[in-house]
Amino acid sequence: MKYLYYLLVVFAASSCLNSSAQDEKAVKEKNKTENSDFKYWVWITASPEKSDQEYTEEFKKYKQHGIDAVLINTEADAELLAELAPLAKNEGLEVHAWMFTVNRPGDKVAEKHPEWYAVSRDGKSTYDQPPYVDYYKWLCPTREASKDHILSLVEGLAKVEDVESVHLDYIRYSDIFLPIGLLPKYDLEQNEELPRYDFCYCEVCVAEFEKQHHKNPMDFENPAIDMEWKQFRLNKVKAIVDEAYKIAHDNGKYLTAAVFPYPEMADHMVRQRWDKWDVDMVLPMIYYNFYNEEVDWIGYATGQGVKDLEGTNTELHTGIYLPALNPKELKQAINYARDNGAKGAAFFDGGAFTPEKLEVIESVKHAK
Ligand SMILES: [Zn+2]
Repeated sequence: MKYLYYLLVVFAASSCLNSSAQDEKAVKEKNKTENSDFKYWVWITASPEKSDQEYTEEFKKYKQHGIDAVLINTEADAELLAELAPLAKNEGLEVHAWMFTVNRPGDKVAEKHPEWYAVSRDGKSTYDQPPYVDYYKWLCPTREASKDHILSLVEGLAKVEDVESVHLDYIRYSDIFLPIGLLPKYDLEQNEELPRYDFCYCEVCVAEFEKQHHKNPMDFENPAIDMEWKQFRLNKVKAIVDEAYKIAHDNGKYLTAAVFPYPEMADHMVRQRWDKWDVDMVLPMIYYNFYNEEVDWIGYATGQGVKDLEGTNTELHTGIYLPALNPKELKQAINYARDNGAKGAAFFDGGAFTPEKLEVIESVKHAK
């Protein structure tokens, strides 16, 4: 299995510069993560039932065990984030505004515009026929209106005081290939790009592509091998990121993103080429068990991403899936990330922290 992945990366392209000097000025003058530091992050989802007191206790617990930063999902609700951010900051934690970006389940504004939703090659809109799971409500990244809507949410979060970054999640297309370890769950085989999972073939995407390239993706016998069609879609995701980066920086904030394990793999699975983005920090979700890999794959994927980011201004912090690991493996996972050049480790998610796993963070942090 491993050899396959090694083969896949033989052709890895060299990374390209993505600095944007004029935007840097707006950001506080400081290093993102000092060389000697290794940052510990945790993803958490806000809950309406939770009291301020309970949040404070949770944040205190993280800080005491060595966590430096919380990524809070408020479903892009800036008001709620503005209430929670000071509670975390008071406990000494950095706050990052975690949002669902292109996949927008439960988005009341978007729901008023069925045409904003992505359409598969077999003509099904995620508005009423989402692929895989009912929360897959992907928007079309090409349409002006859906893109503006996404960016307005980024702006709302970027304006919240006490927030360090806007953190883009689901910043990609819907999975053309699911992680191999998840296929049995959906009783699926995916040996090629299947029409049901291939997006976006809405009339705006097709028309814009045809205007540029004088060919219609609907006519392709095998769309997977048309490089312009692939690149068109990679560029659509990049365009959203690069604009979000400007918005974040104009508001004195960083832009961070949760991404697939390493660039070539992200490109292959979800049309996400994150080594070419304007982004301050990426947190690749190196969830080895989803891919039927072993713990040491965290080191492999981290090292690949770090190498692909050489020459850019983007830092890599490894995303680690807590439920898959016992305390001993968690320690190994952190060391694999650190030894392969990550600047930090982010844990999914806060609810999966047992007292034993929190103690691992504390001991690893103080050991170095
Ligand atoms: Zn479209």
